[in-house]
Amino acid sequence: MFRNKRRNGDVQVAIKDASLIDLRGVSKAYKTDAGEFTALDGVTLQIDQGEFVSIVGKSGSGKTTLINMLTGIDRPTGGEIHVAGTAVHHLNESDTATWRGKNLGVVFQFFQLLPTLTVLENVTLPMGLCNLYTRRERIERARHLLELVGIADEADKLPSRLSGGQQQRAAIARAMANDPPIIATDEPTGNLDSHAAEAVMQLFESLVDQGKTVLMVTHDPELAERAPRTITLANGELLNEYLVRALPTLPHDLLLDATRQIETSLFAPGELIIEHNAEPDKFYVITKGDVEVVLPTPDGKEVLLDSLGPGQFFGEIALLNGGLRTALVRASHAPVEVVALSKEVFLDVIHASKETLSELADIITLRTNRLALAGSSQ
Ligand code: ADP
Ligand code: MG
Repeated sequence: MFRNKRRNGDVQVAIKDASLIDLRGVSKAYKTDAGEFTALDGVTLQIDQGEFVSIVGKSGSGKTTLINMLTGIDRPTGGEIHVAGTAVHHLNESDTATWRGKNLGVVFQFFQLLPTLTVLENVTLPMGLCNLYTRRERIERARHLLELVGIADEADKLPSRLSGGQQQRAAIARAMANDPPIIATDEPTGNLDSHAAEAVMQLFESLVDQGKTVLMVTHDPELAERAPRTITLANGELLNEYLVRALPTLPHDLLLDATRQIETSLFAPGELIIEHNAEPDKFYVITKGDVEVVLPTPDGKEVLLDSLGPGQFFGEIALLNGGLRTALVRASHAPVEVVALSKEVFLDVIHASKETLSELADIITLRTNRLALAGSSQ
C-alpha cells in the first residue's frame, strides 16, 4: 500500500501507509515464582485494514499473550504496538478501556457475557461505556445486531438460557456494538460444536466482507485455513509466514530454527537469482512478486518451465540431488523479494523431518520430469 509519491524538495519519496496494526519487536516476560518467563519474544508484525488473519501455534506458544498485547488487555515488557494510529503500549489503564471500546471488539472462548444482564443489555453495555449513541439508538442498534447474528428472539433472555452457539453470537453482537474496525478473537469456536462453529465462522467472514479486520486465534487447522493469511507462533516467536506456506509439514521447532537463520534479498525485474550451471548454495522461498524458471537450450534459446509466486520455493533440486543448477531462475516483470536458507541450514532442517523430505522428493520428481521433457523436445 504505497501512497502516491510525495515531493520532498527535489527528492521523491515513496511513503508506506502505516498498517492498521503494527507490532515492532514486541516482547512479554511474565514474572513467575521460578523467575521471568518469556511468553513473547521480539514479535514484529503488520496487519492491514480488511485482512482476515488466523493465528495458530501449539498450546503455550503465546497466542493469547499476543491478543492481550494488541488489545491492550495487558502491557508488553518490550517493543511497540500501534493499533489504528494509537501507541497502545503508552496508554494508561483508563484511556485503554475507552480506546479499546471504540477500536476493538474482543471475543473470547468462554463468551464472558454478564450473567445478570439480558442479552440485549449485554450488547448495549459497550455503547454506554463509551458514551456513544442515545439511549433509544442503543436499543435499536442492539436489536439490529442481534438480528444480524441470528438471535433476535433471545434478546430479552439471560445468557444462561442460551446455547453455547447462541451465547457466542451474542458476544459477537456485543463486540460489534461500537462498530469497531477490528475484531480480535481468542479461540472463539473452542467451546462450540461444529455446527455452531460454522455459524460463527460465517459471521466473521461476513464482517471481513464489510471491510472489518478480523484476527482469530484457533487451533483448528481447517478453520485457520479459511483465513487468507495465517501467522504461526512457536515458543513466543513468529515463524516466517512464507516458509510455513512453502514447507507446511515441517515441525514448528524446525521452522523456528530456519526462521532465525533466514536471509532476505531483493531482486530487480528480470534480474537473475540462480544462474545456469552454478554451484548450488541456497534454498529460496518467494515472499513478493513472481519468478520464471527457465531452461537454457544448447542453441542459445530458452524454455520457460514454470512461473512461481509467494509461498512457493525453488533451488531445492541441486541441493538435495547433487550436481550443478540445471535451470536458471530470474525475477519476472516486477521486483521480487525472497527469503533464503544456506545449503547447510536447509539440509540440516530438511533431514530432521522424514515427512518434509518425502514431500520434497515428490515435488522434485515432478520438476525433474518436466526438465527432462523440456530438454528432450529441443
Ligand atoms: P497460548 O494462548 O498459545 O496457549 P499463552 O499466551 O496463554 O499461550 O501462554 C504462553 C506462555 O506464557 C505459556 O507457557 C503460559 O504458561 C505463560 N503464561 C501466560 N500467562 C502467564 C502469566 N500471567 N504468568 C506467567 N506465565 C504466563
Ligand atoms: Mg490461549
